[in-house]
Amino acid sequence: MEQYSRRKFIKKNTQAGIGTVVGMSVTPSLFAGSTLRAPEKPAILGGDPVRTKPWPGWPVWKPETDEKRVIEVLRSGIWSRKDVVSEFEKEWAKTIGTRRALAVVNGTNALIASLVQLGIGGGDEVIISSYTFIATAVAVLATGAIPVFADTDRETFQIDTEKIEEKITPHTRAILPVHILGLPANMPRILEIARKHNLVVVEDACQGWLAEINHKKVGSFGDAGCFSFQNSKNLPIGEGGAIVSDDDEFMDRCYSYHNYGNPYGSMVGEVGAGTVIAGTKLRMAEYQAAIGLAQLQRLEEQTATRNENAAYLRSQIRDIPGIIPYKLYDNVTRAAFHLFPFRYHKAEFQGMSKQRFLEALIAEGIPCSGGYSPLNKMPYLKQAFQSRNFRKMYPEEMLDIHNYNARNQCPENDLLCKDEAVWLSQSMLLAGKKDMDDIAMAIEKIHRNAGKIK
Ligand SMILES: *Cc1c(COP(=O)(O)O)cnc(C)c1O
Repeated sequence: MEQYSRRKFIKKNTQAGIGTVVGMSVTPSLFAGSTLRAPEKPAILGGDPVRTKPWPGWPVWKPETDEKRVIEVLRSGIWSRKDVVSEFEKEWAKTIGTRRALAVVNGTNALIASLVQLGIGGGDEVIISSYTFIATAVAVLATGAIPVFADTDRETFQIDTEKIEEKITPHTRAILPVHILGLPANMPRILEIARKHNLVVVEDACQGWLAEINHKKVGSFGDAGCFSFQNSKNLPIGEGGAIVSDDDEFMDRCYSYHNYGNPYGSMVGEVGAGTVIAGTKLRMAEYQAAIGLAQLQRLEEQTATRNENAAYLRSQIRDIPGIIPYKLYDNVTRAAFHLFPFRYHKAEFQGMSKQRFLEALIAEGIPCSGGYSPLNKMPYLKQAFQSRNFRKMYPEEMLDIHNYNARNQCPENDLLCKDEAVWLSQSMLLAGKKDMDDIAMAIEKIHRNAGKIK
């Protein structure tokens, strides 16, 4: 009831155009539950910040529970891949609900290995999300294939499935959707398109640990799912990654590939003939797996907390004019919330630029970021196209960077990156409800004072 009237209050007063002059005395409910009395002078203009309390640190490490296994491994002297890595793989497959998991050195190489073992390489095109981390695009290039960018659905921040089919050519071999920010991409629709055009699907679930569509974990929908356990990720090992799949033969190939190409499972070759494929070396170390097993213990509870706090924070900010929180597809039963994203519309903030808004929010004690820059416009693409390797693999017209750029325009993604996207980090969502209130209060304060700040 109180929240309802608060929203109505914000709407009503903003519509009346008096939002910027309303003082604290008539809006006590806005700050109910806060230990701080919110001072009206914006912190960026020298006022007191809404919050000075620190946010939860990352990664979480509890010596009492987490160190026993790691120390055992260190003292055993068995540091290269053996039983602990195998145990971690078993646990990860069980967690995601796939038959198999293979631990590797990082998420980038999980993507490269998956693509290579699905037969993708020079001469091929792979359709990827445009709103993603650089690793997605460079993984495709590392196989020799060309990444083709599909535009973004700004409401969900995910690949716009309506923009995939127009990118398909005779060279297209795969779709590589990303569950970016830990919010699931629309996998049922992506699988439909892939089946229709006979394409393989590799999921970049490097931000998607435990996220679900219809109670099925992301990473388990495609031909392969790839995860990252880098330090900032929701399951942090420092460095690490995993490939998951139900396809035993594919997973045997990946195992062999990650171990120099030596025989494994169905990859037996002739007895005594030696190494069966041209592989590489991507093995996780035993002490990394021991850290991973410790972190896995808290992933479920942390994910539940992130989901609760994200839903609460979303409800607290969604009626602030000019603030549009993320939207989940209807089939999403859980998100991972590697980040909490919302869109910012400067028109409702007296024209204040996104950059100025971010600075004002940080000044109020709320760390935030403007997120990704468009990946389809960076110099690495031209460099790859000009490389000797690519020039040997492709006809000249496929490497014409002007044609390529024209074909890879993503105007929605440009708008999202430059003017709209604002992120809060996953570790902030591990704080309490009162801390979420601080975030909402700081945004409201900036909105009320937009005229002064801009
Ligand atoms: C982190 C990340 C990767 C790469 O993972 P690393 O372990 O850092 O190599 C790939 N894709 C996305 C979307 C990521 O966030």
